[in-house]
Amino acid sequence: MAEEGIIISGSELPIKRPREEELEETMAENNNGGNDNGVSLVNNGEEEQQVNGLSAVIPGWFSEISPMWPGEAHSLKVEKILFQEKSKYQNVMVFQSATYGKVLVLDGVIQLTERDECAYQEMITHLPLSSIPNPKKVLVIGGGDGGVLREVARYSSVDQIDICEIDEMVVTVSKEFFPEVAVGYDDPRVNLHIGDGVAFLKAAPEGTYDAVIVDSSDPIGPAQELFEKPFFESVAKALRPGGVVCTQAESIWLHMHIIEDIVSNCRQIFKGSVNYAWTTVPTYPSGVIGFMLCSTSGPAVDFKNPVNPIDDAKDHGNAKRPLKFYNSEIHSAAFCLPSFAKRVIEPKAN
Ligand code: SAM
Repeated sequence: MAEEGIIISGSELPIKRPREEELEETMAENNNGGNDNGVSLVNNGEEEQQVNGLSAVIPGWFSEISPMWPGEAHSLKVEKILFQEKSKYQNVMVFQSATYGKVLVLDGVIQLTERDECAYQEMITHLPLSSIPNPKKVLVIGGGDGGVLREVARYSSVDQIDICEIDEMVVTVSKEFFPEVAVGYDDPRVNLHIGDGVAFLKAAPEGTYDAVIVDSSDPIGPAQELFEKPFFESVAKALRPGGVVCTQAESIWLHMHIIEDIVSNCRQIFKGSVNYAWTTVPTYPSGVIGFMLCSTSGPAVDFKNPVNPIDDAKDHGNAKRPLKFYNSEIHSAAFCLPSFAKRVIEPKAN
């Protein structure tokens, strides 16, 4: 554990996982040994190894450096590191930031901040659930912080909320440091499974769920398979006819190649509808995050015109707090894409 308030920048932090080093080596080779291998040049040009985003470049700041967004890094001023341990799967850190409240970081990548988590949790939940009448059985993959559970609990039609999170440390840390987010676990309809979402879905009986929400970290580390075709096939199998899935789908500014592959796989697998939506989350790389919204064949789902709109006026269930970000206008607007993204994501006119 770090001494109170001392910013670690030396080698105390675990270095990146092998898979990330592999990716960096490939990138470094492609760049003929350029400086894309995750080190920061400081002062007199000496190289300092970047470890888990705590940068020695500006002491007292957290810089989110990753091969997933080469050449850029969002930084937050750190007041105090509150937790720092390595779980079976990843490095888990919580720090008090100067302007975004407490921050949860996994393997050097920001997962949520107290200030802007509402945007992500509300959109990834209400885009799918407000698009189907009376959702009853919902599955969350990942989402160990509990924020999506908090949002699903707003729907009084829901009678079962399963969550499969691979890392128990994320659950316990979220309950300790993010009670406003982890409040989702208090709902009696929630069933927590600690395990790999890939295996959980493979074992799920066909047609079990009305909705699956894949609140995963990035496709580096334990979440890699959650972005691959076999996983989407198992999601489709676990959904009822006309069931819906919403997945975390990266940034149109940074990951069009990943998004293109996901869209292509989803078009082959989901025979209802396939849509991409996006929203603003200031502390995610490039300040935006996207969502894949798909439905299986069966009752038609029009994601752009929700049949089960949720808003403060007729809040579903026993929500303890009003919606901070989501509303029906921002729901519809989320599907409006810039031209460079439309060309890649929308079906090609034949
Ligand atoms: N909002 C964040 C984002 O957009 O990157 C995601 C937050 S949530 C904390 C991501 C969760 O996915 C983490 O708790 C991580 O442990 C979990 N996760 C990663 N791979 C997983 C897998 N294969 N099965 C289940 N959970 C997984």
